[in-house]
Amino acid sequence: MSDAALIDRSVMVVGEGADARGAASALSDAGYAVVAVPHPAKNGDGSARPGQRIASVQGHVGRFRVQLEGASEATVGVGAIVLALGNRRLPTDLPRPQGTLLPVLTPASWVARVHDDLAVEYRVVWARRRVIVLLDYPESTPKETAAEALRAISDVVELAHPEVCVYYRDLQVDTHSLERLARRTRELGVVYCRYDKLELSFEDDHLVVSSEEGQRVGDVLVVAERIAAPAAAPELAEELGILLGDDGLLQDVNMRYVSGSQTVRRGVYVVGRCHLDADAETQAADLQRLLGEIVELLGRESLPLPDEYADVSSEECVRCLTCIRTCPHQAVELRSTDDVTAAYVVPEACWGCGMCVANCPVRAISLVGAEHLVKQEVV
Ligand code: SF4
Ligand code: SF4
Repeated sequence: MSDAALIDRSVMVVGEGADARGAASALSDAGYAVVAVPHPAKNGDGSARPGQRIASVQGHVGRFRVQLEGASEATVGVGAIVLALGNRRLPTDLPRPQGTLLPVLTPASWVARVHDDLAVEYRVVWARRRVIVLLDYPESTPKETAAEALRAISDVVELAHPEVCVYYRDLQVDTHSLERLARRTRELGVVYCRYDKLELSFEDDHLVVSSEEGQRVGDVLVVAERIAAPAAAPELAEELGILLGDDGLLQDVNMRYVSGSQTVRRGVYVVGRCHLDADAETQAADLQRLLGEIVELLGRESLPLPDEYADVSSEECVRCLTCIRTCPHQAVELRSTDDVTAAYVVPEACWGCGMCVANCPVRAISLVGAEHLVKQEVV
């Protein structure tokens, strides 16, 4: 039986939360059998939420064997693995004196507070409030939460008409949805103040913001949250042999796309907020791109071969395992064929980077082109 016949067309989606649900639902709608693995996580109060953990991954793109442990144990075969872990939210630390009565809210809790107040006829109170929305303090606000802050401003100002001033330093309005939100909030009378230096001075029930543009008083402070990489990212990156960025987020390889979903291990994908900081519109586009990449991978009769891939001469291999240890794409394994045990490069998993060719001490590996091999098979 050829390797191509062994392709498994089911997809494992690892994670829990909105990103994992969105990926599972989109893949299921596209006709793929989805194996959902809710990785263990923590609840908002810090308590543990049980799930399933990936204990080991064998095999390669198109035919992974994944051993799961935790709430239920099983070994499952899948053609592709999608990590959709989401991210974590962290409050922004402000140097705020104890005892101040100034409300300090996140964008989401601000919207909820306004809705609660309007329900008990406090409309007049909100219309008189001076709201300071603080971005990039002390470090740059992520795009995801900056977009949420602008959306909250738009919703609240339309609903309750407070006076709102947004202080920002690094805000980049470079997507359609951010552009729309920035334009809409300006139309609603929201003032934007860019700063390089900012000082906050807290009084009993208000604060004074001082910047290059002067001083402004606020009696509600809304601060966008920070985000952090998902707690499970390091463990999963190690188990799957994929990379983490300096920010702790999972890394896509980003070779052919402005932003792709493929990792350094063929068949392992990342989607959503565990690999990018983006507004909702960009996250939706990221999910569509993942779908396209899965269809490209599993929607054919056989797995696509790379243009170039490594090939090991089993007679020359001395089984030192250097190539298995050093292949950055997990494409090499030890195989026994006709009583000969040697390193074997799985062509579909190989990126043709040539690192194994350079590292093999006995020059047992060469890089070959896919067209060349097809000609050989025809002959
Ligand atoms: S590095 Fe060369 S000799 Fe060592 S296992 Fe790989 S192919 Fe064999
Ligand atoms: S060329 Fe060698 S090192 Fe590079 S991906 Fe292929 S097997 Fe791995």
